[in-house]
Amino acid sequence: TDRIRPLLAGNWKMNGTRASLDQIKAIAEGVKAPLSEKIDTLLCPPATLLYVATALCDDSPLAIGAQDCHSLVSGAHTGDISAAMIADCFGTHVIVGHSERRRNHAESDALVRAKAEAALTAELTTIICIGETADERDQGQTLDVLKRQLAASTPDGAASETTVIAYEPVWAIGTGKVPTSADVEEAHAFIRRELVARFGGDGEKFRLLYGGSVSGANAADLLAVANVNGLLVGGQSLKAADFLAIYSAFE
Ligand code: PEP
Repeated sequence: TDRIRPLLAGNWKMNGTRASLDQIKAIAEGVKAPLSEKIDTLLCPPATLLYVATALCDDSPLAIGAQDCHSLVSGAHTGDISAAMIADCFGTHVIVGHSERRRNHAESDALVRAKAEAALTAELTTIICIGETADERDQGQTLDVLKRQLAASTPDGAASETTVIAYEPVWAIGTGKVPTSADVEEAHAFIRRELVARFGGDGEKFRLLYGGSVSGANAADLLAVANVNGLLVGGQSLKAADFLAIYSAFE
């Protein structure tokens, strides 16, 4: 997995107004060579800032993406945005199946898969999130949950060039709790095996991100774990200084 190009992704969730554009600009300026030649970086602001953010990042390696998309291209779906609309705003990536979407909007694996298919059709790089709840972990169901979510949320047309898997234990998101390196290693090794079983040799090349309470203080340890090919960062992506500290950990 050493040859896999890492990805650092930030997810702003429902945070950020025009006043936050200076943070995006600072991140875009901080993501620079030589490190930016070795890793990919992505920021997913709210949809309201997408178009202006892509313009701000015109001269930066920092990619801009969205946090969700609808499964259809257009139509009578008030409040939703399509993958085609994200691409139209020069967004290049989209997150699907984040646990907050699965929980707050009752998104099923089948819906997440349909969204991922729409994203692939729009030629967006798709980050599919999976992860167990605290209860599921306590009941020893972690790998069963990962197996089910991965199988049912990932389209048959997925490939390592276009699809990224993010392992985000629900209990680690926004809580300051991070699994042990051994637990991250077990989950990522399992996801890797499942991808190889389904996609053959290409399964070896998918980027597997860890997400959940990542900070500048724990990023290097997480990146040292086998099959961790990058990080998905929530809270610590809001301020440029915090996010760039995580970026530096990829050195
Ligand atoms: C996330 O929203 O994907 C996330 C990992 O959040 P946080 O880093 O704040 O735990």
